[in-house]
Amino acid sequence: MSDKEPEAEKIHWACTNCGYHWEGEIPEKCPDCGADKEAFEVVPIPGF
Ligand SMILES: [Zn+2]
Repeated sequence: MSDKEPEAEKIHWACTNCGYHWEGEIPEKCPDCGADKEAFEVVPIPGF
């Protein structure tokens, strides 16, 4: 009955500190600059 399953969609993340972005599970720290999780934000994907 559900038309969307959040777990099935990959979430894009961006580091607000250095601009690094990736998709999937959120890492404990930014792999590029080492910023904390709180520096990450979700990036909406146009047309998806
Ligand atoms: Zn970063």
